[in-house]
Amino acid sequence: MTSAPQLHTGVCVRVPAKVNLELRVGPPRPDGFHSLATVYQAVSLFDTIEVSADRDWGIEVVGRTAAGVPADESNLALRAAHALADAAGIDRPVRIRVTKEIPVAGGMAGGSADAAGALLACHRLWGLDLSPAELAAIAAGLGSDIPFLLAGGTALGGGRGERVVPTATRGTYHWVFALSDEGLSTPAVYAECDRLRGAAPVPQPEPSADLLAALSFGNAEAVADGMGNDLQEAALSMQPALAGVLEAGLSFGALAGIVSGSGPTLAFLCRDAESAIDLAVSLTASGAAADVRKAHGPAAVGPVEVATCR
Ligand code: ATP
Repeated sequence: MTSAPQLHTGVCVRVPAKVNLELRVGPPRPDGFHSLATVYQAVSLFDTIEVSADRDWGIEVVGRTAAGVPADESNLALRAAHALADAAGIDRPVRIRVTKEIPVAGGMAGGSADAAGALLACHRLWGLDLSPAELAAIAAGLGSDIPFLLAGGTALGGGRGERVVPTATRGTYHWVFALSDEGLSTPAVYAECDRLRGAAPVPQPEPSADLLAALSFGNAEAVADGMGNDLQEAALSMQPALAGVLEAGLSFGALAGIVSGSGPTLAFLCRDAESAIDLAVSLTASGAAADVRKAHGPAAVGPVEVATCR
């Protein structure tokens, strides 16, 4: 006979994945990161983070995409909880339960989402009073995408991606994501981008004014025209089969298709919710993509709420 799981009062938050509508990559900086100009959008694929007070620090990873995610001290959610405890000068161990829906090593910032969720949930559980800027500084120390994922929505990212400014957008954007069987390592994709560029001078990156205008008008066609990713060539060079999936998505009616972040997930923007269903069905039925997910953006984080955790 199996015993019933022990229940604790904890704090729970849902954190979305992201897609980069535009990702302009500048030259490598002295610290090894690249300067970026990016337009982030959070999309409705969510990981859920639950934290509860415990005798020892610990983490458990479950859910549809949990395979291969480390359930140890290297997990970004646990590292984030430790970083917040250190910054606040406290030692109150937590148990973290991550329920993963976001593709892993897919260019959708799943680990970063979990770190952002752990920061928000522990901040609440421990009754801390850090300002958004203080939380963002801790987030930036853990990873470039994490400050954006503290709030989600749509935002401009500068620096190495950690300096975020929310942007005004209208409307809802309908996405289909084609998942790949095998992940890509983000540092390896940047290295391949540098290799392909060779010795040619690389200008400082700028976001496109046309894309920002299109977002403020809520014009999906114009947003599609403005989408672009400087890491795409490198991701396609490392996984050449992605080119055929991109072509298939466009032939099945997507307004635009790009590699999401460092890939290998492909992001297709669709005219409306119905076109997204049609595209997801066509990509699946044709066998062009190993797996597909439909989502919409911009998505928000949260709410951060007290919950009953296992
Ligand atoms: P990004 O878009 O931020 O570059 P990604 O979406 O390509 O990242 P992640 O899903 O964040 O990649 O995973 C990258 C690696 O980080 C994984 O291979 C995994 O070993 C490790 N990792 C650590 N913590 C987590 C976590 N909570 N969720 C997923 N991966 C994690």
